[in-house]
Amino acid sequence: MSDARPESIVIIGSGPAAWTAAIYAARANLNPLVFEGEPVGTELPGGQLMLTTDIENFPGFPEAISGPDLMDRMRAQAVHHGARVVSELVKQVDLSAKPFGIVPNYSAPVTAHTVIIATGAAARWIGLDNELRLATTGGGVSACAVCDGAMPFYRNKALAVVGGGDTAMEEAMYLTKFASEVVVIHRRDSFRASKVMANRVLEHPKVRVIWNAQVSDVLGDDFITGLQLTDTATGAVSTIDVGGLFVAIGHTPNTKFLQGQLDTTEHGYIKVSSWRTETNVPGVFAAGDVIDDYYRQAITSAGTGCMAALEAERWLAHHGIGESPVLETAEAPVPVTPDATSP
Ligand code: NAP
Repeated sequence: MSDARPESIVIIGSGPAAWTAAIYAARANLNPLVFEGEPVGTELPGGQLMLTTDIENFPGFPEAISGPDLMDRMRAQAVHHGARVVSELVKQVDLSAKPFGIVPNYSAPVTAHTVIIATGAAARWIGLDNELRLATTGGGVSACAVCDGAMPFYRNKALAVVGGGDTAMEEAMYLTKFASEVVVIHRRDSFRASKVMANRVLEHPKVRVIWNAQVSDVLGDDFITGLQLTDTATGAVSTIDVGGLFVAIGHTPNTKFLQGQLDTTEHGYIKVSSWRTETNVPGVFAAGDVIDDYYRQAITSAGTGCMAALEAERWLAHHGIGESPVLETAEAPVPVTPDATSP
């Protein structure tokens, strides 16, 4: 580890939780150092909102704002208040001793008195080229109905939801408010969702379920026009017309780089105390979707980022630890060939 003085606070992540934590920590003169990550495949610094077109439910933007614009603004606000940003993924941390060790992909390791982990969760995708293309370009493919479903683009159209868990049920019910029809596509012949949620969907007059079907292609050039389905029992191929696709096949919290050093829930989300962001390691806090498999909203994520920064600030004050050294590291360049190591 480095001989330099430990940072007061290192923030790992670059979604709403991370930038909100950075804004609060910077304004508290804690001189935070943020590891914002780097592009790897569909994973971009800024997190899931980088794949969201119009955000209509983040307070303060009556005309809606695009996900990337919102992330740019949050980042700029954090930098404006003095947050230092390194555009690298953290490949490893050592939380076994204090100060904690943080090892980024390329630059020198740093140590820190407190760490806020806000690395988010990645929505699982089916993995089809056209699915990912249309998700990235705003062509009618999304992994979050609550985020995107109310947009005019999706109104009065047949909308497909893929998945058979509680998330798929919730998304399907939500979409019934806007769609002409909701088509739930599931690869087996029964849902894994709780009975009460599954029944609500099965009984809804606007919902049709296609059982034993896997989406094998997404049709449409600039915007989705339909789906190609493959019957998982017979292999038969068919197509259906839809005006939107919501993929609800689960999320994976980005915790691999922690190598099991923090307690997690049965689904792999970092465990925090009730209405707090403290983890089982004192001085380590977690915020945003990496702790949340329930709300998963930009605004709740930002809220927990605020909580984490305030808790870290109080933790530092309680332990009589002052500001970080003012370092020259700002805005390290994004490496040209990023390592695939991901938080
Ligand atoms: P989940 O329970 O893991 O369900 C994922 C669904 O996606 C499964 O039905 C699975 O099919 C399907 N799937 C997975 N990979 C697929 C693929 N490549 N192609 C097609 N289908 C695929 O995930 P979740 O629904 O996001 O729920 C996660 C956790 O959060 C659960 O514990 C859930 O109860 C909880 N949750 C609770 C609420 C609530 O209580 N209000 C709401 C949302 C989530 P198989 O069934 O064949 O495996």
